[in-house]
Amino acid sequence: MQAFDKINLDIHKSQWNELLRLGLARLPHALLLTGAPGLGKRQFAEQLVNLLLCERVDATNPAPSSCGECPGCRWLSADSHPDVRYVSPESDETDDDLDAASTADKAPEKIVSPTAKAKAKKRTRASIKVAAIRDLEDFVFVGSHRQGRRVILITDADAMNNIAINALLKILEEPPATVYFILITSNKDRLLPTLRSRCRQLAFTRPSIKAASLTLRELGLPMGSEVLLSLAGGAPMQIQRWHQSEKIDGLKALLKTFQHAGNNPLALAARWDDLLKKDEQLKIEFLVEAVQRWVVDEALASEARLNAATFAGWRGLLQCRRAAGHPLNQLLFLEEIATHALRATGKLASPRQVAA
Ligand SMILES: [Zn+2]
Repeated sequence: MQAFDKINLDIHKSQWNELLRLGLARLPHALLLTGAPGLGKRQFAEQLVNLLLCERVDATNPAPSSCGECPGCRWLSADSHPDVRYVSPESDETDDDLDAASTADKAPEKIVSPTAKAKAKKRTRASIKVAAIRDLEDFVFVGSHRQGRRVILITDADAMNNIAINALLKILEEPPATVYFILITSNKDRLLPTLRSRCRQLAFTRPSIKAASLTLRELGLPMGSEVLLSLAGGAPMQIQRWHQSEKIDGLKALLKTFQHAGNNPLALAARWDDLLKKDEQLKIEFLVEAVQRWVVDEALASEARLNAATFAGWRGLLQCRRAAGHPLNQLLFLEEIATHALRATGKLASPRQVAA
């Protein structure tokens, strides 16, 4: 874990107000942060952890801040505070889950071949294992090290399997008064309703362009990063992640193809094909999503022009989105997308023009 980011982001003002109106002392013990990726839920949670573990914080203040100097703050910034636990998905399929699966269907000593295991690994997305939740029991029910609050931060909470969720629900039934759970999810609907109802939910929504731009500055990202906001669905931290993963150049090049799309779908598709081949980081699924965002932005910018062609083009894009994982022929597929997109944005008059 990185040292704690102390920046109070502008886009989180309303969430802080909502949560701390009554001061830290009245904070709910199980909190669920929801919203699309890239809206800074994690940063928010880390700041909250810091507030909870600061030993000099004023718990009645509706706008408390951590001191940065007390032992709690120092332990935390050294990433070694004994009263906080982080849980996040692990990509490795462990025997524990295979065991759980085989106990569930009562198969005696299921034999799993190495290839089948490898396949299963490929298919399953990273998950939060029940062992990770059971490990929390001691932490929750044995006293704190620093005689203060204890915090558990669970990221991608929707990645918990049902066994893990049940184990967590059991802990949430009667947690000690000084223990706080912060859960984060970008896929709220994937969480079991029983878990959702145990938590106080705090929603993170897409900020205005102005607020998002301000946040890009606060994050110290280079000037000009705003142009990527539409690609990022308005999520500033998404752009930060792109910067960290060196995806930025490919994305800026992609954006340029939108800004100078022209009216020839074949030419546009060829440029996309070129980009995809040059930049391994850029995936075709992402490209289709980006095209969709572009089309929506264009439509919003010129509502007067919305017509049947816009919607026909949009429907075509939706179909392409479903097939994006496995196009038979990449270039042909891109030509189809380009045709739909140019039609939806009013740059292509009729389907006949494509053939010409
Ligand atoms: Zn402190």
